[in-house]
Amino acid sequence: MRSLILVVEDEAPIREMVRFAAERAGFAVAETGDAERALVEVADRRPDLVLVDWMLPSMSGVELARRLKNNDSTRSLPVIMLTARGEEDDRVRGLESGADDYITKPFSPRELIARIKAVLRRYRPHDDDAAVVCDDLSLDPVNHRVTAKDAVLDMGPTEFRLLHFFMTHPDRVYSRDQLLDQVWGQNVYVDERTVDVHIRRLRKALDVHGHDRYIQTVRGSGYRFSSKG
Ligand code: CA
Repeated sequence: MRSLILVVEDEAPIREMVRFAAERAGFAVAETGDAERALVEVADRRPDLVLVDWMLPSMSGVELARRLKNNDSTRSLPVIMLTARGEEDDRVRGLESGADDYITKPFSPRELIARIKAVLRRYRPHDDDAAVVCDDLSLDPVNHRVTAKDAVLDMGPTEFRLLHFFMTHPDRVYSRDQLLDQVWGQNVYVDERTVDVHIRRLRKALDVHGHDRYIQTVRGSGYRFSSKG
């Protein structure tokens, strides 16, 4: 599953350089040149990390970072600031806005990717191969095994990927469209109803010890994985 990086930068050449480097490193990339638009993209696409340029036309990158960090639904979204400024004061101001890290232009693709990975690691201590556990439900990506109360659950590869995504992104609502992007991949053409079919199969597979209740339907929005409620 590829992490999605949202690049907020009004200078197209820099956006392209970032896109090129990030895609080569295996990330999915979305981009915009506008901070207001970035807030919409964050809500719609749920990126895993936002890269924000300090100097943007309508709203500054510092203001954007502050808004993301002051909002409950985006507080835990990692933000890296890009800036041409190297002054210590600006660095402090950038970090005070809540940004998690700071990269001074010009930067190399290698440095950029290293910083992105470091920040993502900080937020997500588990790597893609690590087993994910939620109460007595456990998923092992290496052996492709899901167990509930020590019973092995039988499920197809799509249900497995779906569950892996849910368990690593708990308590957040995802639309069918977002699930298609995250679990099926952006370039695959499948109908949104396909998501419902696999959700149904996943619930059935989890039904053995009542874990199907973890897959919650949020009316009008989509689905959420949660062990609460
Ligand atoms: Ca700029």
